[in-house]
Amino acid sequence: MSEKITIRNGGLYKGDVKLQLEFGNLEQIKALREYEYRMAAFSEDGLELDPYYETDVTAHASFRCLCGFSIDISVSADDDEDVDCFHSITKKCIKCSKSYVMKSEEGSLYVFFKKDIGTQKNETIF
Ligand SMILES: [Zn+2]
Repeated sequence: MSEKITIRNGGLYKGDVKLQLEFGNLEQIKALREYEYRMAAFSEDGLELDPYYETDVTAHASFRCLCGFSIDISVSADDDEDVDCFHSITKKCIKCSKSYVMKSEEGSLYVFFKKDIGTQKNETIF
């Protein structure tokens, strides 16, 4: 579909190209009629809008650190059954500095100790 004709600075434009007025050009007539309609609406009755709504869902999960401190996680989610929104989130206990990582798997949510980057390939260091 080609670009719509717009009217500004008293001229007809297609993109940045100023058009010559052509008598009987249906596309131009249509653009002029729409311009008139919108002009009248904005200045008289108002242009009616059709708002749409989004519901923001925030997902919360919490668990106790090994030290007993409660750790809460809040993330924005797609809907109230979304657990993937937690996936890969890392959280550090502010009391004892243990790090955790969240993993979602087949609709369930789990939390694991987060292994240090240096030990991921060689876990025998633990
Ligand atoms: Zn802790």
